[in-house]
Amino acid sequence: MNKERKLIIAGNWKMNKTVAEGLDLVRGLKIELANVKEVDVVVCPPFTALSEVSKAILDSSLRLGAQNMSEHNVGAYTGEIAAVMLKEFSVRYVILGHSERRQYQKESDALIAKKAAAVHAASLKPIVCVGETLAEREGGKTEAVLETQVSGSLAGLTKEQMTESIVAYEPVWAIGTGKTASTAQAQETHAFIRRLLAKMFDETVARRVRIQYGGSVKPSNARELMSQPDVDGALVGGASLEVRSFADIIRSSI
Ligand code: PEP
Repeated sequence: MNKERKLIIAGNWKMNKTVAEGLDLVRGLKIELANVKEVDVVVCPPFTALSEVSKAILDSSLRLGAQNMSEHNVGAYTGEIAAVMLKEFSVRYVILGHSERRQYQKESDALIAKKAAAVHAASLKPIVCVGETLAEREGGKTEAVLETQVSGSLAGLTKEQMTESIVAYEPVWAIGTGKTASTAQAQETHAFIRRLLAKMFDETVARRVRIQYGGSVKPSNARELMSQPDVDGALVGGASLEVRSFADIIRSSI
């Protein structure tokens, strides 16, 4: 597939996989994806599996991501994980502001912006998630919601930092539901987000930022979604938990 930006496909394991199960998964992916150079492939295990998965993928092109990170560097923040701790395991990417964290941990755009700044300060790359609920889409509020989330969650980043950031458009109604945005909906919304980035930063930055689509991506719909000009990869939940489905998503996107 001839794309303007290199595709980036990340698997968000969420609260799944023990260390042993995670190792099985990445060992299988290493075999299946040994020759894949065209796509940046990232796995995002739970914190407890980062150390072992990191060692297991050292000799491969797989990259490691975390699912969250503290906005603080060190100190009395029970249960939190700092950038320096992630860097011990060669983590390169950090998912921020996933809709599950926005919903269950009440993460705000302002908090996500602080986390994004901390991620960049540690020379890591944030994958910043945005997306509307079904009620918001049906109420015609998609663009307003995305404008608030994009401007709030990416506030304060420099142009250089924004260029190195990834945005994941994940309509909440499509996450884990089996419902996928149509290719037209995905393209239209990605193009809208890119226009927002051009307004906030500039055209060059907007042209360089990779925007992933997330929401029930599977082998059967990946190719069509990835063929859209403004869709630069995927953030995959359920289908990233099995070697076959995740590898097939990646292979069908090339
Ligand atoms: C996600 O949680 O980021 C996600 C897109 O999940 P799923 O692929 O299962 O819809």
